[in-house]
Amino acid sequence: MIRQLEEFLYPQSLAEAVQKKHEYGEAAAPIAGGTEIVPNLPPEIRCLIDVTRLGLDYIEEDGERLRIGATTTMHQLAVSPAVAKLANGVLSSSCCQGWPTEVRNTATLGGNVVGGGPFADSPPALLALDAEVVIARHDGEEKLPILDFFLDYRRTAVGQGILKEIHIPRPSSQARGIFLKLGRTQVDQALVNLAVTLEMDRGVCGRVRIAFGAIGRTPQRILEAERVLLEKPLQPDVIEDVVSVVTELVDPVIDLRASADYRRELAGVLTRRALLQLAS
Ligand SMILES: Cc1cc2nc3c(=O)[nH]c(=O)nc-3n(C[C@H](O)[C@H](O)[C@H](O)COP(=O)(O)OP(=O)(O)OC[C@H]3O[C@@H](n4cnc5c(N)ncnc54)[C@H](O)[C@@H]3O)c2cc1C
Repeated sequence: MIRQLEEFLYPQSLAEAVQKKHEYGEAAAPIAGGTEIVPNLPPEIRCLIDVTRLGLDYIEEDGERLRIGATTTMHQLAVSPAVAKLANGVLSSSCCQGWPTEVRNTATLGGNVVGGGPFADSPPALLALDAEVVIARHDGEEKLPILDFFLDYRRTAVGQGILKEIHIPRPSSQARGIFLKLGRTQVDQALVNLAVTLEMDRGVCGRVRIAFGAIGRTPQRILEAERVLLEKPLQPDVIEDVVSVVTELVDPVIDLRASADYRRELAGVLTRRALLQLAS
């Protein structure tokens, strides 16, 4: 890794980091915790731009939303009382289930969202919470719904910008949520991960979000499955209808860990488990 690097920059402000990224273009990449980029440094990278000294490690309650800086670590998120309040701590769970302690203390939310690929754990939770990403670019800031952020396998809308922060609208006090993950071992990456949030209104489901990781080229919501639940009670027959839609619609990735059929089956199992737990 070191051999291909010509420069390692330590900008002291976000503006300076953005300027350096603009100057170096595709030959430079931001580095935060380094848990993803160090073992997988792309061959074209000649320069790394450290983003951990830009003051972006914060979790702030700001009116009706939470603002989370891009270099906030998974550990900071996992122990934050403000994050725990969001739909039963769905994001908190995604930041601690399975993560080895050393990695959790170093890895950042920004790195997980930009570099984690389809298996990353925080994106399903962020999708289920209707998060928005704020990207700092050479010509100003851009705010995007996270739904529009994941473009293809390990390709995101961050482009040549630097992820600055993530906004999460505060869910209603009725909101329930759950994050589930299945891996080959306690600390392996997900075979399938799933986040669900929902609000019940007079015994039927109101706002529903069902978001998966590791079942396609990007983390994604299954909108059709969400529609099946709308205006319905959270009962076993309805839950089975949702499971059928999920297993029909997912198009899982294949790797050395699992076949597509196995991942499809797991997606159904996790959906049933999540909805039954939310129902109880
Ligand atoms: C042993 C081990 C166990 C792991 N377990 C898990 C797990 O359980 N769950 C899980 O989801 N992941 C896991 N991972 C993957 C990894 O730790 C995460 O994806 C991590 O969150 C990446 O964050 P980072 O700060 O280390 O990113 P880095 O490695 O520093 O960067 C990752 C990518 O994001 C880009 N980037 C980083 N910050 C920014 C920014 N602010 N703006 C623009 N681009 C940016 C970098 O250029 C790079 O492309 C594991 C990794 C290891 C090595």
